[in-house]
Amino acid sequence: MGAVELKFSGSFERSSYLKEFQCPYCDKFITDQDISKNNYRLWVSDYANEVTKSESSVYGLDFWLKSVEHLNCLPD
Ligand SMILES: [Zn+2]
Repeated sequence: MGAVELKFSGSFERSSYLKEFQCPYCDKFITDQDISKNNYRLWVSDYANEVTKSESSVYGLDFWLKSVEHLNCLPD
């Protein structure tokens, strides 16, 4: 699918968007609990589609988020 895993730790502003993704392995949606425990892996496009610069001269790269899956799928 032309995606690479984003090595990411910490949090980001719009983590609620992750809840719109369904894990391809267990077919469950990503939950608040998964987000708070960092129990997810992000797969992004293998190239950046945009370079941005904020007013404070911090540069950013925008990637397409292609897929989100659990690090560890939880049993029911
Ligand atoms: Zn899962």
